[in-house]
Amino acid sequence: MKLLYSFIVLAFLFCASVAQTKPPTETAMSRFLRYVKIDTQSAEDQNKVPSTAKQWDFARLLEKELKELGVQQVRTSEFAIVYGMIPGNLPDNSKVPTIGFIGHMDTSPAVSGANVNPIIHKNYQGGDIVLPNDKTQVITVEKNPDLKNLIGDDIITADGTTLLGSDDKSGVAEIMTMIDILRQNPQIKHGNIAIAFTPDEEVGGGIEKFDIKGWGAKFAYTVDGEELGDISNETFSARTATVTFHGVSTHPGTAKGILVNSMYAAGDFLSRFPTEVPNRPETTEGRESYIHPYVGTLDIETSVVKILLRDFDISGFAGLEQKVKDLVAETQKKYPNVKIDYSSELGYLNMKEVLKDYPQLTDFAIEAAKRAGVDAHLKPIRGGTDGSRLTAMGLPTPNLFTGGHNFHGKLEFNSRKGLERSTETLVHLVQIWAEKGGK
Ligand SMILES: [Zn+2]
Repeated sequence: MKLLYSFIVLAFLFCASVAQTKPPTETAMSRFLRYVKIDTQSAEDQNKVPSTAKQWDFARLLEKELKELGVQQVRTSEFAIVYGMIPGNLPDNSKVPTIGFIGHMDTSPAVSGANVNPIIHKNYQGGDIVLPNDKTQVITVEKNPDLKNLIGDDIITADGTTLLGSDDKSGVAEIMTMIDILRQNPQIKHGNIAIAFTPDEEVGGGIEKFDIKGWGAKFAYTVDGEELGDISNETFSARTATVTFHGVSTHPGTAKGILVNSMYAAGDFLSRFPTEVPNRPETTEGRESYIHPYVGTLDIETSVVKILLRDFDISGFAGLEQKVKDLVAETQKKYPNVKIDYSSELGYLNMKEVLKDYPQLTDFAIEAAKRAGVDAHLKPIRGGTDGSRLTAMGLPTPNLFTGGHNFHGKLEFNSRKGLERSTETLVHLVQIWAEKGGK
C-alpha cells in the first residue's frame, strides 16, 4: 500500500513537472505552414540586398510578430535584416554571454517558391511518398533512409511543383516558437538572446550587411541545417582559381600564320580533368577535397575557365593549386603560342579555424539536443554557410539542425517531430548557456 502511495506521489510529481512547461501560443508546425506560403525566392547577380523585393513581405511580418511576442529593440535594416533582443531573466544577465540565433528568410533561386502548397502526410507508415501534383516527384526510402525514423510522424512536403522552403522557413519557425515558449514560461531561465532573420543567404549576399556590433551577440547559431542531430562547426575553406588563355584574333580570311585560337588550349586544359584530377565533386564525399571547373567563356582572343578549390584544411590548398598549375603547364607545352595566366583568390574559411577555440558552442548544442531526445553529432558541411562568413567577421557561429531534408529541390521535406524537437533543442540550449556558460 505504501509502495502504491509512493508511486502515485511520484507519478503526480512527474506530471506536474511536465505540465510546468506551457505550450507556445502557436506551434512550430502552424508557423511553418504559414511561412512557407510566402514567396521569398532570392535571385543571383543582383547588385542590391535584398536581391528580390518580395523578401520584404516576410521581413515585415516577422518584425510584427517579434513585437507581438514581446521581443525588444525590434528593427528592420535598410537591407531587410530583422533584428531583435530578448532580455535575460537571470539575477545578473551580464554573467552569461548574449547568444544569437539566425534564420534566413529567402529560398533558393534553383526552384520556384511561388504558391507553395504544403501537404501533410499524416501518421506516415513507411514507403515512398509520391507528390500529388507531379507524380514523377517521388521521395524514396532508398534515397532518404531517414524516412525509417519518421514512422508515425506527420511529414510535410510540397505538392511536386515547387520547393517546400523548409530551408530555412523551418529555422525561422523554430526560432519564433522558441521565443513564444520562453514568453509563456518565465520560469525557464536564460541570458540575453539576440534574434536575427536575414535575406539572400542562398545567393551569398545578405550576411555582408549584418550589423554584428549593433546586434550584440557574443556567439551565435545559424538554425539552417538538415537532419535532426546534425550540428556543424566545420565547413570547407574555399579558393577560386581563374585560368585565362590569351590568343590572337584576326579576320579568318587573312588569318594564315597570324590567328591563335585560345579556345583549343582551353578545351585541351579541360579535357585533362577527368583523367588527371581524381578528386572532383562527382568522385568525393565526407572530408575529401575537390577541384571543380564550374564556369567558363570561350572566345578566339580570350578564353577563361574558373575552378573551385575546396578543402577542409587550408594547408591543402597548396597541393590543389599545384595540381591546376601542372595542368596549365602541360597545356602550355602543347600550345606555346597561347599565353596562359593563372590566378586565385580566397573565398571563405573553414569556421573550425576559429570555432576550435570555443568548443562549448557545440558541446552545449549537443547536450541541448540530448535533452530534447535527439542523438546529435558533428557533421562537416561540404560548402559554406552564413556562419562561416560571420565567424570570419568575428562572430563565432556554428550551424544547428532544423529537421529538414533535400534542400533546394521539389523533394524537400520536414516533419512535425523534426520541427518540434529542433524547437525544444533551442529552448534547452538557452538554459544550458544560463547554467554553464557563465564567465
Ligand atoms: Zn539554408
